[in-house]
Amino acid sequence: MEQNLENPYLLLTPGPLSTSRTVRAAMGRDWCTWDKDYNTDVVQSIRKQLVELSTIDVDNYTAVLMQGSGTFAVEATIGTAVGMHGCVLILVNGAYGDRMAKIAKQAGLSHVVYDFGELNPVDPSQVHRMLEADARITHVAMVHGETTTGMLNPLALVAQVVKAQGRKFIVDAMSTFGGIPMDVSALNIDFLVSSANKCIQGVPGFGFVIAKRVELEACKDFSPSLSLDLYAQWAEMEPTGKWRFTSPTHVVRAFQQALLELREEGGIQARYARYSENHRILAEGMQRLGFQLLLPSAMRSVMITSFLYPADAHFDFARFYQALKARGFVIYPGKIGAHETFRIGTIGDVHPQDFTRLVQMIGEVQRLGYC
Ligand SMILES: *Cc1c(COP(=O)(O)O)cnc(C)c1O
Repeated sequence: MEQNLENPYLLLTPGPLSTSRTVRAAMGRDWCTWDKDYNTDVVQSIRKQLVELSTIDVDNYTAVLMQGSGTFAVEATIGTAVGMHGCVLILVNGAYGDRMAKIAKQAGLSHVVYDFGELNPVDPSQVHRMLEADARITHVAMVHGETTTGMLNPLALVAQVVKAQGRKFIVDAMSTFGGIPMDVSALNIDFLVSSANKCIQGVPGFGFVIAKRVELEACKDFSPSLSLDLYAQWAEMEPTGKWRFTSPTHVVRAFQQALLELREEGGIQARYARYSENHRILAEGMQRLGFQLLLPSAMRSVMITSFLYPADAHFDFARFYQALKARGFVIYPGKIGAHETFRIGTIGDVHPQDFTRLVQMIGEVQRLGYC
């Protein structure tokens, strides 16, 4: 059978994202999981590169890979870090913060939730007040880029408060790690969670956690879950690169290729510059066409952008979506309470010229009466 490695459209979604042909081609062979070709040359190499991408303080941080989508890695981290003795303050301003609260509740963990509302960034002074007032709280968990709206939360400011109050910091940086320069050690992050199919531009199948080594080492037997025990996964993987249960070999090999392509692009700084340019072309072009953005520029990430439905009562998202898909672009519905929105992602193997063309196509479907 003829192998077709071409994509019929670009995925301008929160993930999975468009990947390069070469990343997809890296999945073309099988691997044995019990010897060096895979465990040392692929898994250990990836873990080392992830730590190097996340900090200059490489000796004090370690990386763990976890099967499943990003949520599995978030659940493994919260369960294992907080365990049955801790209490986690969960900062919410969208669906992914909310999901962390559901994870804590389902696992029976002691937790406190503060909801800032979907249209407000996390407020560091409120976090400060809550930590001062409640000595039970041992951990704080926050989403960096809230994919629900495209909001970028003030990571460095919240990190400062959490550190000054002597609490542990868990960050869902799913949609930002690899796409925005940051140093987990400088930010004093204890656990940072992301996944293969976001800004590193791999294919979906596993998540990863960058953990402060001493903090993870202290979490033996804390996890309420067997398979999502982040400590046990790390303890198995650390010496040999072996996964505890079946490893998603093809996905892992594709991720290694994606890391190589990140380096070839010029690293995280260069990728951030490309995503920023994608976002700029999209935001300016859509505003020229008369669309309104949900968030002001100071709150926006360059990862995904929410647009309000046009005021025209005839707007039909499904028709608009199909018209764009037929022209090579898949966009995404909105997910917030207060306003009708749709979202367009700017991460993945997508480039400024794609967004110039997208804006032209949206102008065309607008003239045809689809929006
Ligand atoms: C994509 C994403 C996740 C993980 O979602 P999965 O569907 O489980 O991969 C978690 N948090 C944020 C902010 C995300 O963007």
